[in-house]
Amino acid sequence: MTVLALSTRLGQDNAGNRIGQSHDRGLRCGIVGYRGVTLVTYRAMAIHADEARCFPYESGKAGRIMNRRVLWLVALGFFLGGLLLGPLLSQSSSPRLLESAVAAEPTRSEKDRRTIPPDDGKLRILCFGAHPDDCELRAGGVATLWSAQGHHVKFVSVTTGDIGHWRDAGGPLARRRLAEVQQAARLLGIATEVLDIHDGELLPSLENRRTMTRLIREWKADVVMTHRPNDYHPDHRYTGVLVQDAAYMVTVPHFCPDMPVLKNNPVFVFYPDSFQKPNPFQPDVMVSIDAVIEK
Ligand SMILES: [Zn+2]
Repeated sequence: MTVLALSTRLGQDNAGNRIGQSHDRGLRCGIVGYRGVTLVTYRAMAIHADEARCFPYESGKAGRIMNRRVLWLVALGFFLGGLLLGPLLSQSSSPRLLESAVAAEPTRSEKDRRTIPPDDGKLRILCFGAHPDDCELRAGGVATLWSAQGHHVKFVSVTTGDIGHWRDAGGPLARRRLAEVQQAARLLGIATEVLDIHDGELLPSLENRRTMTRLIREWKADVVMTHRPNDYHPDHRYTGVLVQDAAYMVTVPHFCPDMPVLKNNPVFVFYPDSFQKPNPFQPDVMVSIDAVIEK
């Protein structure tokens, strides 16, 4: 079983101040340490059992599910190969359909698509946060660690964060927060993206499920991190729901056919939190970020 990793807060902010919530949460999770060991991990099977019945990982069934999937993919490959040999379809309208589908994506830009890393055998980790700071606060430690090891990490803020301030709001705030996460990404050595959805208005819609599915497929993610779907904040909650809803669909070829399906289902993990109902966070694995905490 693949070991999943999931980080909690860094333990201190950029000014060197300790983030108390991290410390408290770490102690609750059985993690001792003021600045060092703050990362907590989940196993997918635990997530499946506790959080999401729709997750495809389940002991015993997983092999059979995957075997059937492989057989279907082989059969589909033969079928498509036969079609491509047909002279009438060698220059079919498929490319135009693909172009139009890609062009219809409302929130993606050419610049975003150019950030896709090469297939170099390194892990590809994709972190979803509701706002421009959630990924940085919850996964900044592991992102720094894995980036330093050559793995490919990307943070996605699902909303612009344009009402997340006591005084400022709107476009100027969204631009400021975009600049902040871009600066953070440069420091951590990772990719980042902010989707064009208003803060406080995220809904678990079909359109957004498609967006998440495309993002996960596009990154060819091995590991996906997100909020648990029992958060008090609707954006956090629905980010978790949307990632869960996309978790299986990323392997369904005819859902979002404009983006190739993943051959292997990523491992999906949740960020730690302090919510107790319907079930409290239970870490399974801890990852030390001592090596990068000073960064
Ligand atoms: Zn947030």
